[in-house]
Amino acid sequence: MRWTRRTGQAKPPWRLSARTLVTCSISTIIGFSAICASVMIDLRRGEEVRARQSLENLAAGIGADISRNIELYDLSLREVAANMLLPEINEVSKPIRHLILFDRASTARNFGPIQVFDANGRLAIDSATLDPTPEDRSDADFFHVHRDRADVGLHVSRPAQHHGHSSIALSRRISAADGRFVGVVAGSIRLGYFRDLFGRLSLPAGVGLSVFGRDGTIIFTAPFDAAAIGRNLARAPAVARALTEPSGWSSSAGALDEQPRLLVWRSGNDPLVVVASRTWDSVYVVWRNEAVQIGAMMLALIVFVLAATQVAAREIQLRTKVESRLERLATTDPLTGLKNRRKFDETIEIEWRRAQRAQVPLALLMIDADHFKCYNDTHGHQAGDQVLVGIAVCISDSVRRAGDCAARYGGEEFAVLLPGTAEAHALHVAETIRIKVALWAGEAGNTSISIGVASITPSRETHWTGLLNAADRALYAAKEAGRNRCVAAAVPGLTVTASLAA
Ligand code: GH3
Ligand code: MG
Ligand code: MG
Repeated sequence: MRWTRRTGQAKPPWRLSARTLVTCSISTIIGFSAICASVMIDLRRGEEVRARQSLENLAAGIGADISRNIELYDLSLREVAANMLLPEINEVSKPIRHLILFDRASTARNFGPIQVFDANGRLAIDSATLDPTPEDRSDADFFHVHRDRADVGLHVSRPAQHHGHSSIALSRRISAADGRFVGVVAGSIRLGYFRDLFGRLSLPAGVGLSVFGRDGTIIFTAPFDAAAIGRNLARAPAVARALTEPSGWSSSAGALDEQPRLLVWRSGNDPLVVVASRTWDSVYVVWRNEAVQIGAMMLALIVFVLAATQVAAREIQLRTKVESRLERLATTDPLTGLKNRRKFDETIEIEWRRAQRAQVPLALLMIDADHFKCYNDTHGHQAGDQVLVGIAVCISDSVRRAGDCAARYGGEEFAVLLPGTAEAHALHVAETIRIKVALWAGEAGNTSISIGVASITPSRETHWTGLLNAADRALYAAKEAGRNRCVAAAVPGLTVTASLAA
């Protein structure tokens, strides 16, 4: 038993209570769950960042390949457009003209011949042959565009069938020195180029690539979707952003399949825009599996901890109950149910210190049954016991204030401790007890009690035995004065100052 410096009360050793255990367990579970959730959120964010980076790299790589090829092809178109303005070009023979115009023209698989159309849209020169079959493209989009506007530069048409191949036309205006429209030089890239390019990649599930013209028309998609080619998605918000912002990403439902997707583009000012996309489902697939596994483990752990906590809490509750019962038994007098002598000694020590600190009075009543030996001899020991129980009931009925302590001091003696009680009030309490016993005993036989009362405001050097002795002597005085009365002791000096007889 430890004593606290401030209260002087006996402080029981710290014991883990069931409530503390449950609070600790729940706090631990909440803490672990929060850490787990935060780690999982970080992992999820990591997956998003990784997916975005890999799509950026993919879009940038494919975009660079397409741009390089278009740039080379465009160089040839520029060369032809410039050379067409040479005054001698119409004077030299067809083979020489071919040599001048197309000598450095790049030719590659999937890149169509370069053709020159005059101001009326009729085919004038074809890099593939010296004697081209007559062809009129005056109704073609690219022809209209260049005829009507001088500042278009390189024009990329929508995918269309041309000479039996799905292809896009790349064209430039041929303008005379005075800006007059002279004709158009046009070439074509077959969609097979994109098929070959994308065919070299092995795209993971959920990943898609789309090549858009600057007007938002789909030129090619991987995985290949014939129905999508030629559709204009300029109004889809993500595509609209990709067409206007040089790079970026967006999360939205796919314009073609309505699946939630991560879309990434890095197009700069290239004539074609490559958008790489990945379904969110495929982005999170690994993370989701991990989350389910970790979540299941956490759940199992939580169930285990809760079950263990419940068992331990029940055990603690049981132990606490047993301990408090034992404690009650250890401090209670078995016959009367009042506190026993041991508890009384403990309490008087505590209350004495408290009264010393607070400088308030502490009163003690010492109660003794009168002629009890005689009563026992006359009515028997068991009847004597019943009288002791009756006296105890009268005492506890009269002593109801919290902090008051009524105890069986030994044999037929009782002690009542009244903290913060001055002598006059203590005497009043004593008299109440005495009268109660007298009234009760009136029915049960001739039993009376004598009470010695003392009240002391203790100074620092004093010990509670002084109070005990004072009350004891007052009791002796009461006996001496004829019993069945209360006597108060004046402290110090122990002069008997009052005697209340029945
Ligand atoms: P006095 O008025 O001077 O106190 O006389 P008394 O007979 O009460 O005093 P004494 O000390 O001579 O006798 C006390 C008696 O109390 C002796 C004993 O038989 C009785 N007694 C003590 N403890 C118990 C108890 O637990 N049960 C019963 N029935 N009697 C007890
Ligand atoms: Mg006695
Ligand atoms: Mg007695």
